[in-house]
Amino acid sequence: MANHKVVCWDCGADVSDPYVNTCPKCGGLLTVKMDLEAVKEMKPADLHKTPLGVWRYAPFMPVDPAHKVSIQEGGTPLYKTEALGAEVGVPGAYVKFEGLNPTGSFKDRGMTIGVSHAKELGAKVVGCASTGNTSASLAAYATKANIKCAVFLPSGKVAAGKLAQALFFGAKVLSIDGNFDDALALARKMSEEKKLYLLNSINPYRPEGQKSVLFEIMDQLQYNIPDRIILPVGNAANIWAIYKACMELKEVGWIDKVPMLTGIQAEGASPVVKAFAAKKNDFIPEECPETVATAIRIGNPVSGRKALHAIYDTKGYATTVTDAEIIAAQQLLGRREGVCVEPASAASVAGLKKLREIGIIDRDEKVVCICTGNGLKDPDTIIANCPGVIKCGNSVAEVEKILLQN
Ligand SMILES: *Cc1c(COP(=O)(O)O)cnc(C)c1O
Ligand SMILES: [Zn+2]
Repeated sequence: MANHKVVCWDCGADVSDPYVNTCPKCGGLLTVKMDLEAVKEMKPADLHKTPLGVWRYAPFMPVDPAHKVSIQEGGTPLYKTEALGAEVGVPGAYVKFEGLNPTGSFKDRGMTIGVSHAKELGAKVVGCASTGNTSASLAAYATKANIKCAVFLPSGKVAAGKLAQALFFGAKVLSIDGNFDDALALARKMSEEKKLYLLNSINPYRPEGQKSVLFEIMDQLQYNIPDRIILPVGNAANIWAIYKACMELKEVGWIDKVPMLTGIQAEGASPVVKAFAAKKNDFIPEECPETVATAIRIGNPVSGRKALHAIYDTKGYATTVTDAEIIAAQQLLGRREGVCVEPASAASVAGLKKLREIGIIDRDEKVVCICTGNGLKDPDTIIANCPGVIKCGNSVAEVEKILLQN
């Protein structure tokens, strides 16, 4: 479609080869420049004929809807979490539950656009490196599009549910000797040799689909713009996508202020937070990232520089949370709100609690925490942190006795 072009985020050069993942001139990061002239004539309600979901926002997407590969991604609930808000002292707290996407994480928003574009290009093989959710999502969309799929996983450390999905959808699942960053390096090499079309978030089309979470939040709040959006940061494409969505809404005149974008990393994998604390525009990669939140166990975030720009430009913030704080937040959300998220997703809620405690977040802020993935992806972590099954004799009296215990 002629409504966009791919450009270098660093030097501005046009980039036409779809198989390069960085700027051929300067090695910089790529991004999509949308032509939004036509949208300036429209209002948000003009899109409401289409159900809430990624494709409602087709005029902001760089793919012709005629080519769409969709399993009805997006359209996830935005909960007003009153019990959570009371607990942490932020009554205006909301949770956007991305775990209710088709494969159980927000990755589906990017994949519907990325795989639709791969189909437009006539790609024969798609691939990605993944901590789990990207591969689960790509495997589903590739099979829907009838394109062959290879996923590169770091050895061990992939949650059972995510691995099960990639295998189930029929992808070639390759366990690479190394961590996520090693797996990505191999996938990129394959892409540079044009052996596959790479659908990691370094691909500029994926964040385009991920913009839709911000568009949905605005629709769900009737354009009462939240003061702050908090989300976990791993490779940092999602925070960049949300920032880009804000800038585009501003460009078309649908909003006049922007939420403070607030990124949360795990203490053991926090290159972006360290750069923010040092007021730097670039980060220092970490060799051995470690955290229970495997989806953000990333030492060398591909879009880290874009994330820092997004945070500074929106007067946002970045901080770390410990694994113990992540598990506590996951349980709080489960026990008080009936929402089951995976550990990485709970990092946003742990961040809300911490930033309220240290006074970065005011009591009267309206805050949306993005909970990126479903708790059922990683049942082992949940079971390990819950009380066990109760042994019970086969009698009413014994059941009653147990129920009377607290
Ligand atoms: C991918 C993922 C993240 C991290 O998103 P980035 O765009 O890499 O920062 C966080 N949570 C979950 C559940 C994910 O799958
Ligand atoms: Zn460049």
